[in-house]
Amino acid sequence: MNVPEILAVIFLGLVFGSFSTALVYRVPRKQNWVAKRSACTSCKTKLSFPDLIPVFSWVFSGGRCRHCGQPVSWLYPAIEILVLVLCLVVYRFFGVTGEGLFLMALTPLLSALTVIDFQRMILPDQLLFSCFILGIARLGYFTFTGQFHTFSDLFMPYLLAAVFYLILSLALRYIVSTALGKEALGMGDVKFFFITGFWLGVQWMPIFFIIAGISGVCMRIFWRIFVKTPEFPFGPALILALFSLLLLQGPILK
Ligand SMILES: [Zn+2]
Repeated sequence: MNVPEILAVIFLGLVFGSFSTALVYRVPRKQNWVAKRSACTSCKTKLSFPDLIPVFSWVFSGGRCRHCGQPVSWLYPAIEILVLVLCLVVYRFFGVTGEGLFLMALTPLLSALTVIDFQRMILPDQLLFSCFILGIARLGYFTFTGQFHTFSDLFMPYLLAAVFYLILSLALRYIVSTALGKEALGMGDVKFFFITGFWLGVQWMPIFFIIAGISGVCMRIFWRIFVKTPEFPFGPALILALFSLLLLQGPILK
């Protein structure tokens, strides 16, 4: 067991977790999520150092703002813990490698997309675009490390895969929407399929559709029993399928 590596991953996981909570709060409200410092959502006091320590600040303040005493949702520390755990899982599969770091950087985006889709039934374009750019950067990294000769050698199969995912998801959207008589697969989901092509490539497509389908059905049943609203988010099922396959696929670079 490499203790310095694990401590570094824990630190990174907490930073990414904190970033993810900022995304969940700011992106749907159309706030700038890159530069601005966090503030209390009730009294707007700018948060200072002790407030910004992930998870611990929430526990030690009893889940309330230190300045105005308003409760802070448990969702924020829960997201921070989720991202931390996901980063540790990635570390278990990939160690501290370039590929592993790309997947760790993807976890705050996927976690934020999941929470926002559950809350608002949307997959915001800004976050989808960030996943897309990160995926392209990862392909660039594969080229840079000499696994493939040129960027286009590598890029073209993934681009074709992405187009393939896009066409199939549009067909699926049409079929399911027609069968149900209402919009079934949102355009955010369709965009997510497209981006998945750049991360997974075409050979993992059948199993991606199977895992996404099964988890979608399970979540649909859960939704019908516990949430009971007619609308239902499909994004989390897609995200679960993508992330588990990225782990199962293991390091491409050997
Ligand atoms: Zn406050």
